Amino acid sequence: MTRSIPPIGATVPGYPRIGPNRELKRALESFWSGESGRDDLEAAARAERERSWRRLAALGLDSVPSNTFSLYDQVLDAAVLTGAVPPRFASLGLDGPGTYFAMARGTTGAAPLELTKWFDTNYHYLVPEIAPTTRFHLDPAKPVGEVREGLALGVQTRPVLLGPASFLLLSKAADGAPAGFAPLDRLDDLLAVYALLLTTLAAEGVAWVQLDEPAYVADRTADELAALGRAYARLGGLTERPALLVSASFGSLGDALPVLASSPVEAIGLDLVAGSLPDADVPGLSGKTVVAGVVDGRNVWRTDLDAALATLRAVEPLAAAVAVSTSCSLLHVPYDLDAETGLDPQLRSWLAFADQKVAEVVTLAAALRDGRRSPAFDEAAAALADRAAAPRVVDDAVRTRLGGLTAADTRRAPYAERAAAQRDRLALPPLPTTTIGSFPQTGDVRRARAAFRAGRLDAAEYTARMRAEIERVIRLQEKLGLDVLVHGEPERNDMVQYFAEQLAGFATTEHGWVQSYGSRCVRPPILYGDVSRPAPITVEWATYAQSLTDRPVKGMLTGPVTILAWSFVRDDQPLADTARQVALALRDEVGDLEAAGVGIVQVDEPALRELLPLRAADRPAYLAWSVDAFRLATAGADDATQVHTHLCYSEFGDVVAAIDGLDADVTSIEAARSRMEIVPDVAASGFARGIGPGVYDIHSPRVPGADEIEELLRRALAAIPGDRLWANPDCGLKTRTYEQVEPALTALVAAAARVRS
Ligand code: GLN
Ligand code: ZN
Repeated sequence: MTRSIPPIGATVPGYPRIGPNRELKRALESFWSGESGRDDLEAAARAERERSWRRLAALGLDSVPSNTFSLYDQVLDAAVLTGAVPPRFASLGLDGPGTYFAMARGTTGAAPLELTKWFDTNYHYLVPEIAPTTRFHLDPAKPVGEVREGLALGVQTRPVLLGPASFLLLSKAADGAPAGFAPLDRLDDLLAVYALLLTTLAAEGVAWVQLDEPAYVADRTADELAALGRAYARLGGLTERPALLVSASFGSLGDALPVLASSPVEAIGLDLVAGSLPDADVPGLSGKTVVAGVVDGRNVWRTDLDAALATLRAVEPLAAAVAVSTSCSLLHVPYDLDAETGLDPQLRSWLAFADQKVAEVVTLAAALRDGRRSPAFDEAAAALADRAAAPRVVDDAVRTRLGGLTAADTRRAPYAERAAAQRDRLALPPLPTTTIGSFPQTGDVRRARAAFRAGRLDAAEYTARMRAEIERVIRLQEKLGLDVLVHGEPERNDMVQYFAEQLAGFATTEHGWVQSYGSRCVRPPILYGDVSRPAPITVEWATYAQSLTDRPVKGMLTGPVTILAWSFVRDDQPLADTARQVALALRDEVGDLEAAGVGIVQVDEPALRELLPLRAADRPAYLAWSVDAFRLATAGADDATQVHTHLCYSEFGDVVAAIDGLDADVTSIEAARSRMEIVPDVAASGFARGIGPGVYDIHSPRVPGADEIEELLRRALAAIPGDRLWANPDCGLKTRTYEQVEPALTALVAAAARVRS
């Protein structure tokens, strides 16, 4: 490494890629359906890349990232780049895109790679499968192609790659790998491929390469830390290579920072929003460029530029040079606030989406360089002051009410007393059958909702159509013989947005789409102020459903933690405080449902595990406030009201105690795919209330038979006494069709009847 290295200056670790108007989503879906060809898809992809580079250069970044674009997922891209294509796909004999999308989405005879959450964000990545026999080899077409495309536009880009250690730590051992094999065992072989890639990029004239190692903001073993050191000793030791920026978002590097600082890389990227300032005495750091992520890359608030500049100044004495960046890739925020013309102007003035954040980075880099505080600083300070004093942010009634709460407000009577009261009231058979809430959302239902939203359907007609749908779903459940019914959730576009739209303190956007995975995008609501419930939300639908039948109908709410997890949350108070506010609003809803005669209320918390902090040391505090919020939402319920909750995961290792802490009368969990593996763990944890381990895997179109459901129920019965076991699917039925759901629920009811007798 002898060439002179240009400074990084102002940069970002990544940028959205789905297109400001979801152009890539449309291009992908049209390609998948066969409506358009490979050339059309490639043209759309190229247009989005070019638009992004031009935009980032025009906004004033000194170092523009490339290879952050993806047709599906950046981890999948890394697998293809390094030749880690599992044999079940390689053997299909498909072309490049064919293999790529088969890995992402599956194809006849080859199940897709597993999809899982990207750290504590709402993005999902595809999990590479690594075997002792995986033959790594370099396929550099994508990063090299993007470098050339950028150059053709006059933009010298910095390729961004998933780092080799994180790549392996995020992978899983392929099925059939010997016990004790871990993907990280293959590090040296993989490093050979990365070394070749760096040499190739140097030959393309690339000055800087960014290698992301976010896996190191979580707790890592000594061996894993040593692997990181080995990786960068090797890559840093290459003679022909670009300068290396090793970057880690979503927290502090902790013990990994000294490892990187003493390795021969040129720059280290730190998340100074989720993580904290490095210590003053990290050996080697003073010789590096620190790329300081001081602008929050995953929330939508305008940055306090003075505070960010102070952080940058605090980094200066620790490093050889300081560059300015966002805390993580901007993948997690929408493109451009300017598109939100419908948003209230005051609220808008408090926000920054991707392009506004890039401008903030540029402003900060200029101030750091010139020592001058530009007018943008005053504008940011004014917006911040306005936000802090705005009446719409602070609701004294909410605060007074929260201040008056005591421990008693989160406690119900002992379970035994509640269970007895509920038995008398509900008179359910042993092994009651139920579902998780939603029924298939038909085209008619979606169209009616859209027409109502657009003003093409009036409220009376909309209500009539939803009621007709609810009645149909109730009659179906009666016919199938389910014991506890649901209204089916036809009125809900999304289980969080639906509540956000009706709670004070939330705003929703028109174009604020964020990629969730592949072509799937979500539009998270913005939680900006104290939360309250101006009017009942679900009561009308629930009571209508209950009026149609003698069987109990469950009221259906989304829990406080899930509402926070799937929204952009305020950053001006602890999340725990926000959670309590949402909980109080839900508590009012539970009370109104009870008053209207609803005897069972389910409060879904599928995201409880998602927000679990990456470091074990932070988990107890999180679990304490999240469990507390759930209890605040539900503990106002009468003894005879049965509180259910639903959690979407099958891996509960870390949260099994928290499930107990929720104190729900009945908890449904995902269990079918793991064939009830979780049940003994739950039983062993001492959990002694009602439990419904899912017996029907709704993630697959496959319809289970009564025999296999019966077997699963019998397995569960080996660990859980019959008076506490429920029979239900794994999750809501929203994504399935009636052709699948009817026979599956018929089988479920039949299996439960056999086990009862
Ligand atoms: N009640 C919701 C439904 O059935 C729960 C969804 C979820 O857990 N993600 O759709
Ligand atoms: Zn679920």
